[in-house]
Amino acid sequence: MQIVTKVTDMQSACRKLRANGVLWGFVPTMGALHEGHLSLVRQARSECGVVAASIFVNPLQFGPGEDFAQYPRTFEGDCRLLEAEGVDVLFAPEAAEMYPEGAVTTVSVPGVGDRLDGASRPGHFTGVATVVAKLFHIVGPGRAYFGEKDAAQLAVLRQMVRDLNFDIELVGCAIVRDSDGLALSSRNKYLDTAGRDHALALHRALQQMERMIMTGERQAATLIQAGFEVLKASDGVRVDYLAIVDAKTLLPVTSVDTGTLVAVAAYIGATRLIDNFLVA
Ligand code: AMP
Repeated sequence: MQIVTKVTDMQSACRKLRANGVLWGFVPTMGALHEGHLSLVRQARSECGVVAASIFVNPLQFGPGEDFAQYPRTFEGDCRLLEAEGVDVLFAPEAAEMYPEGAVTTVSVPGVGDRLDGASRPGHFTGVATVVAKLFHIVGPGRAYFGEKDAAQLAVLRQMVRDLNFDIELVGCAIVRDSDGLALSSRNKYLDTAGRDHALALHRALQQMERMIMTGERQAATLIQAGFEVLKASDGVRVDYLAIVDAKTLLPVTSVDTGTLVAVAAYIGATRLIDNFLVA
């Protein structure tokens, strides 16, 4: 696996690897890799001739007081994992390489980018859209792989790709969970045993709502109330949002349908976790 840290080196490495015309897959990450990330890499590897990944903890998508400085960084181990999965080239730039002095241009996605996590974390999706647009330009993939765990992020990026005519297919990949149901996240590393226990309330709440939908409940308000009951039963959980929205626009809906997004974000102590499911 080639490891590249400079933008111009990555551009020329990608140009060379692309020259033979194979489908070119890309998996952007912030590192601290787990099975969720690796599932994206495996899907890319199974579908594409060349696979690139990136590891970049993007300062632009963290707000003041958020966990940018503490965010887990496990670069050596990450490299071993990516290499073992057959990644061809890894892009791992420093922040100053991505945002040199004087860089001012950003990509914002008003509307969809201001909802759910975009509402709770102002500027977050501008940071995400900006870095992903830059990575797309640098890597030039045919397909890019993102987890459905970050469903709002996926909606924002789909809108950006449409609006800016990126000739890239975005592939959403299913959420990977631990055996107890907790969605894998690099931020799970912040949780102690009690915190991990509290974190399971997110999955329990979603499961309760999913069960109700499967037995015929369609009213968003009733479902949200039931989800809140489950979350409130765990005293270590502070809910940020519990929402039932259109998966494309992230606007609230009053009744659920196939493809509706049910999403939750909550704090366990200082750790903010998210989870969701799409109505079957
Ligand atoms: P991150 O490193 O948190 O920016 O995540 C990089 C990519 O991995 C994003 O597209 C995430 O949605 C995806 N991802 C993170 N956790 C999971 C998970 N548990 N299952 C599937 N994809 C995930």
